[in-house]
Amino acid sequence: MRANPIGLHGPLFVSCLLGALLGAGSASATIRYRVSLAEPAAHLFHVTMIIPVEGRDVTTALPAWNTLYRIRDFSERLQTLRGICPASTAVPLDKRQIDKDTWHFWLAGQCQPQDHNAFQIDYAIEWNDPGPFNSQLSAHHAFLNLAEILMYVPERREEDVTVEFVDIPSGWRTIAELTAPSAYTYAAASYDQLVDAPVEAGQFDEMDFVQSGAHFRVVVDARSWNRALLADALGRITQYQLELMGGPPFDSPGKEYTFFFHIGPEGEVEGGGMEHRNSAAISAVSTEAAIPIAAHEFFHVWNVKRIRPQSLEPVDYSKEQYTRALWFAEGVTSLYASLTLERTGLWSKLRFYDDVARQIGDLESRPARAWQSVEESSLDAWLEKYDIYNLPDHSISYYNKGQIVGVLLDLAIRDGTDNRKSLDDVLRQMNQEYGLNRRFYDDSAGVRAVIEEVSGQSFADFFSRYVSGTEEIPYNRFLAVAGLEVKVVGGRVVVDEMASPTDRQHRILDGVLRGSTD
Ligand SMILES: [Zn+2]
Repeated sequence: MRANPIGLHGPLFVSCLLGALLGAGSASATIRYRVSLAEPAAHLFHVTMIIPVEGRDVTTALPAWNTLYRIRDFSERLQTLRGICPASTAVPLDKRQIDKDTWHFWLAGQCQPQDHNAFQIDYAIEWNDPGPFNSQLSAHHAFLNLAEILMYVPERREEDVTVEFVDIPSGWRTIAELTAPSAYTYAAASYDQLVDAPVEAGQFDEMDFVQSGAHFRVVVDARSWNRALLADALGRITQYQLELMGGPPFDSPGKEYTFFFHIGPEGEVEGGGMEHRNSAAISAVSTEAAIPIAAHEFFHVWNVKRIRPQSLEPVDYSKEQYTRALWFAEGVTSLYASLTLERTGLWSKLRFYDDVARQIGDLESRPARAWQSVEESSLDAWLEKYDIYNLPDHSISYYNKGQIVGVLLDLAIRDGTDNRKSLDDVLRQMNQEYGLNRRFYDDSAGVRAVIEEVSGQSFADFFSRYVSGTEEIPYNRFLAVAGLEVKVVGGRVVVDEMASPTDRQHRILDGVLRGSTD
């Protein structure tokens, strides 16, 4: 993800629903959701959840977090939660709340058992928040991060699910990177898969393109946007990263990928991007501002969605999920966004140097770097919702220091192998060992193991100083490998090329800028 810089219906519809949801007797999709968009003015999604049950009770829960590493307690947005046994008489279920996110429903009276008994859970949930980390239902559109809206049955997340949208305002379409068995209906093999695919509903622009054999869809919700500029940039970004990482890894129905863009003035959009397995949601104030975010989110297709730390699996929606690996998952992704922009010509090399200088300046402006390691910053991601935590004396950013550590690692690997290997090889090797094998890496130790395998050298010292430790970084010692140096000019940190680099420095800098090795 990338946040901006630190920055129904009532009983009437029950009977008709019954026929639709129970009558067909399909055994494949077990838990079914129906989401009504009938109340955009009130920003209320009306949700009906049909859960086939064998016994006489069921427990449902709403996630406490999703998209951001931040407990946000989506249940605070709930209204009118109730359960019924949807037999012909719609018998109410008894309900007992277990904790702030979890409810137990059971049948005290008689509900006519059928071949398939099922419970129905109804509720409304209010969302009118713009941006890729939120959900919204307004007169203009709907955007849904489904984990923020749909309850789950904790021990049944592995079952097939479908979600059907109804009461769609006239002229609106819906789109999501999911199987669509019928109009306005999406299916997934599990709750986790379903909620890793955001849904847009509204009147949006669309374009598509083919890159390296993969189909890309681009959904744009904007008052004005630059089609030619976006098409050109996305073409370059996807081409470069697909080539770098060995081709498209998508496992969506058509092996395709969807970019969702919301482009509009500040206040209407909240800038940032959110990665998903086969799609990304990006909000920005302009087409130009959306492009670097797209370069970051698309690289997440590998780094974090497929090259994934064990500490983030399986997802626990109920509480904080601690990982030390965000410096790699986010910071190194930010580095690859910058490298992609530079290597595809969307940025000049001077812009790339300026980006590195800015990252160094940011880190050096935060006194917390002396005591909070980048791993600790990763663990503390859950504190970012508190303003005071984000102050320079309280924290560093794992995006920021993670990106710098990525630059240092690339230079150290190139130095140690005489420019025969680079961080690119580490990412590709991690994709081989973890992504393609559907295994998860052991946080920083897992990253270090692959770096040592690729480079043939020990990085124990590097990791203890700069990843788990808080030693001051000797920038110039690392940058000199590529003939670069950090200076402070007029109070600003700048990165510059040395006046007369050696051949070796020249070769290594060329490798960094072109993404090549010798
Ligand atoms: Zn990210």
